[in-house]
Amino acid sequence: QAKKSGRNTRRLFDQQMNQEVVRYVETRDALKLALAHGELELHYQPQIALGARRKDDRLIGAEALLRWNHPERGLVMPDDFIGVAEESGLIVPIGAWVLRQACRQAVAWQAAGLPVDIIAVNFSAVQFRQGKIDAVVFDALEESGLAPECLDLEITESILLEDLQRVLAALQRFEARGIQLSIDDFGTGFSSLSYLRQFPVHRLKIDRSFVRDILKDPGDRALVQTIIQMARNLNLRSIAEGVEDPLVLEQLRALGCNEAQGYLFSRPAPPEAFTRWLAGLGGGKP
Ligand code: C2E
Ligand code: MG
Ligand code: MG
Ligand code: MG
Repeated sequence: QAKKSGRNTRRLFDQQMNQEVVRYVETRDALKLALAHGELELHYQPQIALGARRKDDRLIGAEALLRWNHPERGLVMPDDFIGVAEESGLIVPIGAWVLRQACRQAVAWQAAGLPVDIIAVNFSAVQFRQGKIDAVVFDALEESGLAPECLDLEITESILLEDLQRVLAALQRFEARGIQLSIDDFGTGFSSLSYLRQFPVHRLKIDRSFVRDILKDPGDRALVQTIIQMARNLNLRSIAEGVEDPLVLEQLRALGCNEAQGYLFSRPAPPEAFTRWLAGLGGGKP
């Protein structure tokens, strides 16, 4: 009996494994075509510098967020395919496309007189494994004409699992050109703080999971306060992600947080909607 149920469990396990492999292969192949067929697009979410009061808040830039406009499935969100892109290495050409597209869009907004001084682009740790990382970044800047100071690369603490010397050397070359660096989802990864001093970091992005409950959870509030203070002590800026509630925003302001981003200001939106939102700032939302 035990043996039989063991066999059944094994079979179920094999089936699940098999389904996962099939899903992986399907997604990978479809993603490869998506890039070639122009099914990938970027949405943009505003980043806001916090003033003394809400009326003093001002737009500083936008984060580019990848979407896959799938012919059958509709708009597919990055959490459903970035993992496959990373595992398959497709994130390398996709990441290069994202960077080029985001830089171009930022220049277009700047040329139209819109105050997009920062374009934040999510950068996967896997992208550092390729040899041509410098070419990818510098070509995107040169081709678009974007000032390097306007580009902000968002990396996560998972970067610490990579070849650190290699990553560090690349980041230092970026820094030498004036490119900015943010640590995304800060606080969710490894708590090694010494890397913060080694890395040419400009900004800490406080993870949404801590920001969300700062009014209700004293522990979260203490954590957010600590990150904001640490950023200040290290001469870095702090930005809170996932701000949805005006009271949370006021709490962040009181804690001295420099910048914020979240549904409260705007959801990520396609370029045209973002442009409309920008043009009518204070008016409608996308
Ligand atoms: P992330 O970089 O931490 O981006 C923040 C995520 O939170 C985005 O989800 C954004 O839409 C969402 N968000 C923003 N404000 C709020 C809010 O007020 N409330 C809530 N509930 N959510 C909010 P999204 O667009 O689904 O992206 C998920 C993740 O996928 C990103 O997290 C990033 O890690 C990754 N990603 C997105 N685009 C790219 C890309 O071009 N390259 C790479 N390598 N990763 C990307
Ligand atoms: Mg990000
Ligand atoms: Mg984040
Ligand atoms: Mg996040």
